[in-house]
Amino acid sequence: MSLLSLIALRKPAQLFGIRGGVHPEGRKFLSANSAIEPLPMPALLRVPLQQHIGAEAEPLVARGDRVLKGQLIGRARGPISANIHAPTSGEVLAVGHFTAPHPSGLPVPTITIRPDGRDAWGPRLPRLRPEDASPEALAARVAEAGIVGMGGATFPAAVKLNLREKYDLHTLILNAAECEPYLTCDDRLIRERAEEVADGAAIMARALGVGRVIVAIESNKPEAVAALQRHNLPMGLKLEVKVVPTQYPMGSEKHLVQTVTGQETPARALTAELGIVVHNAATAQAVHLAVRYGEPLLSRVVTVSGKGVARPANLQVLIGTPVADLLAHCGGLVGEPDRLLLGGPMMGQPIQSLRVPIVKGTNGMLALTRAETRAAEPHPCIRCGSCVQACPCGLMPFEMMARIQSGDLDGAAETGLLDCVSCGSCSFICPSSIPLVQGFNYAKGALAEKQSRKHQQEETKRLAEARTAREEAIAAAKRAAMEKRKAEMAAKKARDAAEAAAEAAASQEVVK
Ligand code: SF4
Ligand code: SF4
Repeated sequence: MSLLSLIALRKPAQLFGIRGGVHPEGRKFLSANSAIEPLPMPALLRVPLQQHIGAEAEPLVARGDRVLKGQLIGRARGPISANIHAPTSGEVLAVGHFTAPHPSGLPVPTITIRPDGRDAWGPRLPRLRPEDASPEALAARVAEAGIVGMGGATFPAAVKLNLREKYDLHTLILNAAECEPYLTCDDRLIRERAEEVADGAAIMARALGVGRVIVAIESNKPEAVAALQRHNLPMGLKLEVKVVPTQYPMGSEKHLVQTVTGQETPARALTAELGIVVHNAATAQAVHLAVRYGEPLLSRVVTVSGKGVARPANLQVLIGTPVADLLAHCGGLVGEPDRLLLGGPMMGQPIQSLRVPIVKGTNGMLALTRAETRAAEPHPCIRCGSCVQACPCGLMPFEMMARIQSGDLDGAAETGLLDCVSCGSCSFICPSSIPLVQGFNYAKGALAEKQSRKHQQEETKRLAEARTAREEAIAAAKRAAMEKRKAEMAAKKARDAAEAAAEAAASQEVVK
């Protein structure tokens, strides 16, 4: 038996189980042996200004401008936002709206660039020596470089690094679980660039001010485990590699923390409350490039897979590249796929058009055949309880769904809807093929909209009441001023009368 097989099969030591979860067929073999290939320069890049959680970036260029590779073209707005940079040199063709890589298919503000083929860099950010830089300077560099969580969460990475200001942190966990079937982009990245990933982890540990760095990786990636074990960390840190069981959704942040440390993060709390911050492996590599080489986040590795793709592969793709270019490079579609997804089959988002662009959080592009999707007509719930057993968050999916279907969104929230991490385990296991997670995603959106409307109404009412109170206060002040003036005038009149009387009396005295 080879060393790699032994690593994969050995019983993970000192790990704690997670509740629920499922074991979908991995199908990683389709792309796991495809080394990362650079995708040729696309004819057009469509770079959305909203590729992250938080406020969309403010455009800094206009139609007709020439841009250089790495140039800042969208500036982060507000504390939770991310900078956007030109992925290559070229001409700005438009600053307008374009279809988002999202199931809604709604247009989002987007900068369209026609590459000039020179791929000419603008001035890069100055290189930093993380050994000498302060945690604040490292976090500021990550923000400057526009780095977001590249595992799909897309939360601005610098905001997470700054959690040291609020929490007593001690551990960074690098999430290399990659538990979604088909996806192998993180696996390949670690196998081919382990040193960069490990260095990025050490830089983030320094920015967080923690002394412990753990890489958590599923047992189905023995080569990546071996690659990480070959690398030492700089700055006197030690890399602990923890092989976790291959089980979906192991990559969910809170479940990974629980598996590695045995500590459960309370519902709707951050893992930082336990002193732990989790970052994705690809995010670590982006941090390495930003700090050591001054390179903003311009491209990422994307797995193109599924039996609907002629040649599954892992591609290094510029942000903004249309999905159609990835498919064309991989030999195109085989027949008519049943589903086109960005991301994995469990949590990925269906796309309506091949023109939508790859964004910072896109880890996969899947073309799945009908045999792979196991698409079936939904049937009524038979109350088998399988979804309850599969839910890693301890929820009752069938109960939440019943409430959603009866229009009782508040009731669904009371039964835990907002604790649902949208992992899709319940939908996967349901023998009645009920689209549970789709229902939960819809309900969460509807609840958020309802809350936003309620908040707006309350805000409008509060502003109206404040205005009324202000107007009443002004009127009362005016009334008081008038009363005072009247009193002063009356007092003056009385004084004048008294003085006149006194004068009259005095003149009569003189006459006498
Ligand atoms: S798994 Fe499906 S059929 Fe079974 S209880 Fe849950 S929703 Fe109902
Ligand atoms: S999608 Fe939500 S309800 Fe369903 S298993 Fe995952 S966490 Fe539980």
